[in-house]
Amino acid sequence: METWEWMKANLPSFLKDLEALVRRESPSGDLPGLKEAAGFLEEAFGPLTGRLSRKDTPRGPVLLLKREGEGKPVLILTHYDTVHPKGSFPEAFRLEREKAIGPGVYDMKGSIIALLYALRHAEATGRRLPALEILFTPDEEVGSPESRPLIEAAAKKARAALVLEPPTAEGDLKVARKGVGLYRLKALGKAAHQGVEPEKGVNAVLELAHQILRVAALEDWEKGTTLGPNVVRGGTVSNVVAEEAEVEIDLRIWTLEEARRVEEGLKALTPVLPGARLELSGGLNRPPMEPTPESLALFQKARAIGESLGLALRPGRVGGGSDGNFTAHLGVPTLDGLGLLGGDAHQKTEYVVVPEIPRRAALLAELLYAL
Ligand SMILES: [Zn+2]
Repeated sequence: METWEWMKANLPSFLKDLEALVRRESPSGDLPGLKEAAGFLEEAFGPLTGRLSRKDTPRGPVLLLKREGEGKPVLILTHYDTVHPKGSFPEAFRLEREKAIGPGVYDMKGSIIALLYALRHAEATGRRLPALEILFTPDEEVGSPESRPLIEAAAKKARAALVLEPPTAEGDLKVARKGVGLYRLKALGKAAHQGVEPEKGVNAVLELAHQILRVAALEDWEKGTTLGPNVVRGGTVSNVVAEEAEVEIDLRIWTLEEARRVEEGLKALTPVLPGARLELSGGLNRPPMEPTPESLALFQKARAIGESLGLALRPGRVGGGSDGNFTAHLGVPTLDGLGLLGGDAHQKTEYVVVPEIPRRAALLAELLYAL
């Protein structure tokens, strides 16, 4: 396919742009780093057809590129923050055999450069694109607190959402993602001297231990519902009956129905020890991304294009959340995993597979033409 050839011919300049973006390290929350990366994106995407605007938020700049075209816009979601504190890698960018290695190269700065080249390809060849709204956000890795309302506002006008998170390690696209909830359950007891008058105390750690088993009983592995009581805090010193204890619980579900069932179960918990009290806080952070006939049709389109590129794409389902959870929840057909092939996301060995870059960039460009 011609597009693939064009991407192959442009691979050296692709790698230069990728290096430039990756070297501008931009961990979530690092405003100077995020601003520098956003500045590079403005330089790279600014000259393209369309209008690029910038909104500065407390968590960094959000960029929006609007491109006119026929019909309701297709929304493209990208994030340029990474999970890696500055200097985490021995070198911010390096090429090693077939790999390009660096912070965020796979999740998802490589995707952003693939998008850049898809748009450049359209300009170079004059091929027609649909109306596009492209968001570049600085806070996805921390749950998108600032970007979420902007993503949702754009999604409400969109006919489809493409999310440029990386594909699975096997190269599959993502049609379903689990929803994510974070809850905090606190047990409140009464302090007392452990040696002198333990009977006057109410042990919050003991109370919490009872509750944690009840929390775990809400799991349903067959339905993919998991509750991880992964952080526990409690007590002060060993000779005082513990007055307070709390647990942080990570909830993952495939469906909203399961989210509701679990939340009701958590709210229904009652203390076991006389005199103890419970407090529950938190909730669903990202609703599940459940496949719909429309989102599967979108996947079929991508699959057919993949086939012409020699890719056998499958509809992947993954436990981690993304901004696609928000758009899918609003009923917008959403397809995720359209970034570059690679691996070791969130690790200090994060990489993309260089020889596969042209093919994945061509897939993205052709999918845009097909919409
Ligand atoms: Zn990501």
